[in-house]
Amino acid sequence: MYDALIIGAGPAGATAARLLASAGWSVVLVEKSEFPRRKVCGEFISATSLPLLCDERIRGEFLRSAGPEIRRVGLFAKKTVLNTRMPPASGSISGWGRALGRDRLDTLLLEAAVQAGAALWQPWKAVQIERTGDRFACTLAAGEKRETLSARLVIAANGSWEKSPWRPETRAHRPSDLLAFKAHFQHTRLPSELMPLIVFPGGYGGMVHSDSGRVSLSCCIRRDVLETSRNAQPGRSAGEAVLQHIFQHCDGVRDALSPAELEGAWLAAGPIRPGIRPRYADGIFYIGNAAGEAHPIIAEGISMAMQSAWLLSQRLLQAKDRAATLEAQAQAGRLYARDWRTAFAPRLHAAAAFAHFAMWPGAKRLLPVVERFPNILRWGATLSGKTAQLVR
Ligand SMILES: Cc1cc2nc3c(=O)[nH]c(=O)nc-3n(C[C@H](O)[C@H](O)[C@H](O)COP(=O)(O)OP(=O)(O)OC[C@H]3O[C@@H](n4cnc5c(N)ncnc54)[C@H](O)[C@@H]3O)c2cc1C
Repeated sequence: MYDALIIGAGPAGATAARLLASAGWSVVLVEKSEFPRRKVCGEFISATSLPLLCDERIRGEFLRSAGPEIRRVGLFAKKTVLNTRMPPASGSISGWGRALGRDRLDTLLLEAAVQAGAALWQPWKAVQIERTGDRFACTLAAGEKRETLSARLVIAANGSWEKSPWRPETRAHRPSDLLAFKAHFQHTRLPSELMPLIVFPGGYGGMVHSDSGRVSLSCCIRRDVLETSRNAQPGRSAGEAVLQHIFQHCDGVRDALSPAELEGAWLAAGPIRPGIRPRYADGIFYIGNAAGEAHPIIAEGISMAMQSAWLLSQRLLQAKDRAATLEAQAQAGRLYARDWRTAFAPRLHAAAAFAHFAMWPGAKRLLPVVERFPNILRWGATLSGKTAQLVR
């Protein structure tokens, strides 16, 4: 029987597995996909998360591979092309964040968890969790095969974009649903230190230099706007239709990508479900997107995933008798849920406000104000959590 069974080896699950296994817990990590795999994500990692990447098993590879330090924040909206200094993170190893492709980052974090001692079941999907007394039995599936693992506690780090068998959520499709897209480009004209926010009718996005000379472009677009855009461009894939829509409404993106080449295929995911979810329920701990998700306009999801794993690990490691009893687990769960809210709720609210503002049709009338006072962008980056150090 394991001390902890962790479902999902994204940044949240792999970080929790590494931290708990490094502290001597017996940990099993279950991941349904083969790695390396690409993922819809802008790939920017805030400087506030660098302490969690400075584990000796990760640091060298991260510093070698990640893209340039992002020292400027910008805005591309209609004809507006602005940039200003990114506020540095206080007291961090470096003040500025960098981007690393999810094919590489997630593999790196997973390898570090395994090196720390976590057992790995991959590609296996957790399909059922049952609690009997003070233990959990988790059924895993891979094709026709079935296995059951037992653990004292379960941490769900399975993200938020797919159905979770133990937390069914049914919601009808709505025109306002946000669908997410991402692609990599080579040979762009985007300045290397700059991460611009992209604003266009019915959506928002971002661009950043990642590893291997590639630039990631990721965005969210309303379902109804995408549909209209696709109807106007028959024969184009959804990703191409999104890019054309952005080109039509964002001179900055068109200029940055005019000489560029698409690398690989467009990826799509969603609808995304920003909001705060229970962090501890029915004896299960939730971290990363499974616990709560900010609008990706602030590019903080990877950091929140790793930092929430750290917050939970701290509470579990401090709990009496390695959180052996249900009572000790419930106490750790309550404290973690409170820590989570203190650390992340302001970021989620700020992100929701920015996202709704960016998609509000009247916002274009305020572009001259932002052009006059570009420091508004610095203020936005600060509110989104890019400067406050949580993990030291
Ligand atoms: C358009 C867009 C752009 C973004 N850009 C950025 C950015 O630039 N910077 C940033 O910090 N964040 C960004 N984000 C957010 C970021 O991608 C997420 O917040 C982050 O991936 C959450 O990490 P996680 O570990 O919680 O979940 P995930 O990364 O989703 O990992 C969950 C893992 O669980 C596995 N899994 C799921 N179900 C099961 C199961 N039943 N059994 C076993 N395994 C399972 C999945 O295969 C996956 O590997 C962006 C998001 C979007 C939509």
